[in-house]
This record gives sequence, C-alpha cells and structure tokens, in this order.
Amino acid sequence: MTEIVKYSMFIDGKWVEAKDGRRLTSINPATGEVWASFPEAGASDVDDAVRAAHRAMTEGPWARMTATERGKKLRRLADLLAAQADALAKLETTDTGKLIRETRSQTRYTAEYLNYFAGAADKLEGTTLPIDKPDLFVMTLREPIGVVAAIVPWNSQLMLTAVKLGPALATGNAIVIKASEHGPVPLLELARLCAEAEIPPGVVNVITGLGDPCGQALTRHPLVARIAFTGGPSTARHIVRNSAENFGVVSLELGGKSPILVFEDADLDSAVNSILAGNFGATGQSCVAGSRVYIQSEVFDEVIGRVADRAKRIRVGNPLDETSEMGPLATEGQRINIERVVAASVKEGATLVTGGARPASQPRGWFYEPTILTCPDPDVPSARQELFGPVLSAFRFKDEAAAVAAANDTEFGLAAGIFTRNSGRSLRVMRQLRAGIVWINTYRASSPLAPFGGYKSSGSGREAGQDSLLDYTRTKTVWIDTATKPMGDPFIMR
Ligand code: NDP
Repeated sequence: MTEIVKYSMFIDGKWVEAKDGRRLTSINPATGEVWASFPEAGASDVDDAVRAAHRAMTEGPWARMTATERGKKLRRLADLLAAQADALAKLETTDTGKLIRETRSQTRYTAEYLNYFAGAADKLEGTTLPIDKPDLFVMTLREPIGVVAAIVPWNSQLMLTAVKLGPALATGNAIVIKASEHGPVPLLELARLCAEAEIPPGVVNVITGLGDPCGQALTRHPLVARIAFTGGPSTARHIVRNSAENFGVVSLELGGKSPILVFEDADLDSAVNSILAGNFGATGQSCVAGSRVYIQSEVFDEVIGRVADRAKRIRVGNPLDETSEMGPLATEGQRINIERVVAASVKEGATLVTGGARPASQPRGWFYEPTILTCPDPDVPSARQELFGPVLSAFRFKDEAAAVAAANDTEFGLAAGIFTRNSGRSLRVMRQLRAGIVWINTYRASSPLAPFGGYKSSGSGREAGQDSLLDYTRTKTVWIDTATKPMGDPFIMR
C-alpha cells in the first residue's frame, strides 16, 4: 500500500491543522489511489488567515518595506521556484495527472511570471494633475488595495496563483490563497518557498478546504478587499454574490468553448498541430482548449483525417513517464461527465471519428482516449458545454461570414484561433470575434507580458500584463492648498 503524505496549511508563517482536526485526501489520477492528505479548513481557520494577512499588510514589516525591497523578495521566490521546478513538477503530476513534461516546463515559466511582477514592483508611479483651480496642488498615489483572496482550480495551479500573487505582492498587498480540494499540494510547496524567500509571516497564506465552507467564508470575509478567482462560471456566480458582503473588487477567469477557424488557404501543418495542441495538450484540461473546430468545406476531410491520424497515435500513459504524450483526467467525475456528454452527442447525430472510450491499455486511473466528433448541428451537447477533457467537436463551414457567426454562437468568449494565409482576412475576422485572446496561425501561446482573460461567460478582468498590476491598487487623490492666505469663509460664494 502507498504511504499517504501528510500536509498542513500555512497561516501567519506557521504550519497548522484545521481547528476541528478535519482532513481531506488527494487521489493520484493515474492510479485512482489516495496519495496525500491535507487539512479541511473551516470558517474559523479562514478568519485566522485573513486576519493574519490584514495584520501583515498594516502592522508588519511588509507595510514598511519599499517597493524595491518587495520586488527583491519576489525575485528570490522566482529563483527558488525555478531551482525546485523538477521536484515541484513531480508533485503536481502526482496530484493532478498532468504530464511531467508539461508541469516541469510550466513551473519554470511560472518563475518568469514572478520575475515580471518583481521588476514592475517599483515602476508604478503616481501623477500630478494640472488642476482647474488656483493655488491647489493635486496628486494621486497608487496604494495597495487590501487583503487579496485568491481562489484557484486544480489545473496549472502554480501558474494561476503566480498571476495573482505576483501583482498582489508587487503592489504591497497580502494574500490568502485557497487551493483546490483536487490538487492542493503544489501550492503548499509554494508556501514553503515563500518562507524560504523570507517573505514576512502573514503576507502569503495558503489554506486548503472545500468550496463551501472554506471558499465561501473567504470570499465573504469583511476584511477581504480583492477577490481573484479562476474556475467555472457556476462557482463564479457564488463568488460574485459573496462579494456583496465586502464589496471586494472581483476578477473572474472562467472557462471557455473556444473556436478554431481553418480557412481553405491555411498552412495545414500549422492548423493540424494547433488543433492537436489546443485539444489534447494537458489532456484537453485547459481553459483555452480550442474544442470547437470550424473547417472550410474544401479542406475539411484532409484536416480531420490528419488530426485523427495523429490523435490515434498519441501515447496515453503514466504522466510521470517522460515518453507519455497524454495523461489521465484529474478527477473521476470529469470522466463520467465526458462519457455522458459524448454518448448524448452521438445520439443527437454527431459522428465519432476516433476515441470515445477508456483506453484498454490503462485499466487504472481516470484515462480517456483523444476523441473527435464531427457534428451536423451546433447544438449537440459536446459543442455547447465546456468538457475540460480531450474531446473535439468539428464543423464544416462555407464562407467567412458563416464561420464568424458560428464561432460567436456561444455563451463563452475566452480565446479563438484563426488559420489563413490571407492577412486581410485574419485581421477582419479577428476584429469580429468576441474573445479576449485571438491567436492567428498559432495557438496556446502565453506570456507574463500579455493580458489574459475573457468576454461574456468567460469572465471579467485581465491577468498578466501591466493593467493587471493596477487592479491590485487603489488610487488615493491628495489635495494641498498652496495659497499664502487662509481658506475663505465657505458661505461667501465667489
Ligand atoms: P470550480 O469552479 O469548481 O472550482 C474553482 C475553485 O473554486 C476551487 O478552489 C473550488 O474549491 C472553489 N470553490 C468552489 N465552490 C466555491 C464557493 N462556493 N466559494 C468559493 N470558492 C469555491 O472549477 P474547477 O476546479 O473544476 O476548475 C475547472 C474550471 O476552471 C473550468 O471551468 C476551467 O475552464 C476554469 N479555468 C479557467 C482558467 C482561466 O484562466 N480562464 C484557467 C483554468 C481553469 P474546491 O476545489 O474545494 O471545490
């Protein structure tokens, strides 16, 4: 029997248990076996974490630290993260089933996100205003917004935390991070690195527990001023309602059902490889998965044939094995949902080109084959619902107008891909797509410099890039009377 690794939470610089001693377990998705346990925080534990964060940013050394010093702490954290990338990647792969090749390179790149925000820490400036009144000098300052509640899902949790923790700390805030019940371990390791980087106690707190009560208590807490959420739209609705209790500023990075458009003049090698990356990379468990693929009729059979040919040859296997190309799904519930939706889609007229079953080679764990459906109708369930798995729904289109209309016919608006050699068309189509990120002749690229976020039910607010820093600050306006005479009688109008 595998020995279960026991983790604690990190509150106010100390490793603690839930006050009532309750614990949860994490399952290794490649084996279906419990491999780690961690505390199940209740409302009182959440209160401790938020109060510790509030003290740290109002009374502790963090409150007095210069922006340059804060940047150095973040840079130190980035260095530690990069140095520990291999070990962290192994833990993340065990916790969530994501391929070791993916977790290792993503962890290294996560360090670059922290470096980006470290460099920005002392570059935020205030303004002086050419005010429309004599003898008054008016300036604005950018101040920390307050305690940040960061809520992240189980996929890419280090990266999704870095885009919240980086700007929060660079601008002088303290943060309480609620890890997902399905994959908290990498974030508890991140907490250890924060202590090693000598980020003062209370500035970064990592708590573990269930959405309700832990996430609920955190997002409703009166001392929380900023809520940065990544997850699904139905959870986001709870969060927005909870924010009515503290009027916290909310950013939402939600899911997607992103379209990839392939025109008949496209470079088909790029299109095929992008469709594969956009649907089977990370086992399709990516918010930007390009899971609705629209292909112009002239090249439909060739593109689908080539994608299916490679999909059949994807090596599905143990995510810790360097030669595996696709791992398991993170939870059993996802696989059950995907099986149900694929069956319903076939019943409603979709044709299974490949996949649609559990791979015979993997009897244990939550594996599912790379799956391609061709769809006669935009309303088949696989084309409407975010599945968060390796399932692609493909459609034919006749012309540009039909492709744009079909691509926009969704409640989501996170990302989109356009494949064409016609630059005029690529820009024309890009302007018409209701999506926060558009990739032209490429897919799934990201950078700390590039804002990330969606339209419509894919959320609001942007992570990464300069604007995201400002979202963790408030503007203070300061008025100074420079006149030599005292202020006049307020009841005499001039
Ligand atoms: P969920 O929305 O189920 O959960 C996200 C987080 O919210 C988890 O930590 C969860 O805790 C917590 N939570 C659940 N209920 C509440 C509540 N009532 N109050 C506060 N917090 C709560 O998403 P998944 O974990 O299933 O992740 C998949 C979703 O995330 C997909 O929709 C995906 O598209 C989206 N996503 C979006 C990204 C983006 O940048 N746009 C990137 C990656 C994923 P617990 O785990 O304990 O339930």
